[in-house]
Order: sequence, then C-alpha cells, then structure tokens
Amino acid sequence: MGRITGPVCRLCRRDGLKLFLKGSRCDTPKCAFDRRSTPPGMVQKRRSKPTDYGLHLREKQKVKHYYGVLERQFRTYFSRAERGTGNTGEILMSLLERRLDNIVHRIGFALSRSAARQMVMHGHITINGRRVDVPSYSVRAGDLIRVKNRVKSLQLVHSSMSQHQRQVPDFVSRSEELIPEARVDRLPGADDCSIPVRANLIIELCSK
Ligand code: SF4
Repeated sequence: MGRITGPVCRLCRRDGLKLFLKGSRCDTPKCAFDRRSTPPGMVQKRRSKPTDYGLHLREKQKVKHYYGVLERQFRTYFSRAERGTGNTGEILMSLLERRLDNIVHRIGFALSRSAARQMVMHGHITINGRRVDVPSYSVRAGDLIRVKNRVKSLQLVHSSMSQHQRQVPDFVSRSEELIPEARVDRLPGADDCSIPVRANLIIELCSK
C-alpha cells in the first residue's frame, strides 16, 4: 500500500497552503509554512506565475497530498467518480472525504491523517462493532466509528483528543464517553472538505 514519505512541510510550501500534515505542530509557531511560505528549494524566492496546466496540476496534487493518496489510487477514485451519477467533482471529493483515515483524523481521534492511517492499520478502530484495518475504507451514512475497548487504543485516542480540540465536521456527531465514538449522520459533500478545492480543475485535468 503506497503512502507519501519524505518531508511533508515541503508539500505545503509547494502547494501554497497549510495542509495540516504534521498534527499538533501545524498549529504552533514551528509550522514551516508560517515561517516561510515560498516554494521549497535553494533558489526559489517567490512563486512564479503558473501556466494553465500548472494551475490544474497544483490543484490535483494539493488534494492528493491532503488526503495522503498516491496517483494510482487517485485515478481509481476518479474512475469511480466518473461512473457515478451527478457532478463528477462533487462525487470525487465525497469519495475522498469518506476515507476512514480522513474521518478518524477529522473527529479528533488522531492528530494527523498519517497517524489516523496507522491507528486504523493497527486495528484500534471498529465500525459497527467490527474491526476495520483498511485506511481507505469508505464510510457510509449511519456507520458507528468507535475506538477499540483496550488500554492502548484508548490511551492513543485520549492523548490525541487532549492535545488538540478539533472541530468535528457537520456530517458526523461525536460523543466523548469513556470510549469515544462518532456516528456518520450523512455522506460528506465537496463543501465538507476543510481546505478550498476547485474540483472542476481536477476533473478537467484528469479527463484529458
Ligand atoms: Fe504544513 Fe503542518 Fe508542516 Fe505547517 S507544520 S508546513 S501546516 S505540515
């Protein structure tokens, strides 16, 4: 299973916005983008005017970096979105937002998507009472996402929740019982993404 490796702060600087890939560090003065928002590299002091293709590409790369998916997986999401009925861009963003690692991060169980991904893969998360260890699992409306009732799992989630009080998105409701859980009230749409995305540019690029 592919994943993005290497220094992730460069990705924020390359894409020109904060992608929040490093957990609690992103909200501190140590954030690399806040200190230097120019593109990475020795010689680039300012952002050059992008070409039309560059604009489209940057938008796609931004979304891939934000959700932590590689090109092949992204193309699979695009194909699924194309086959769906309705606006392809909306469906694409909804599919990405429905990823289990994204939801686990957004409800505050993990400080970053990569931490959420690891948490899922290590079996700390259950859906409707069954262990799910696939980070790309697509949640459905009504799903109950719960932390496994064991010491290590609870410690991990309580530690994340105490370090960062994340605002839970509209489409899920979280309860902070002894065993934290969240229910997916409805399927997320393109507007539920927490960064600005021009999905039409991505669709134009991928349809060529
Ligand atoms: Fe991006 Fe977070 Fe690094 Fe800041 S600290 S540049 S938001 S990954």
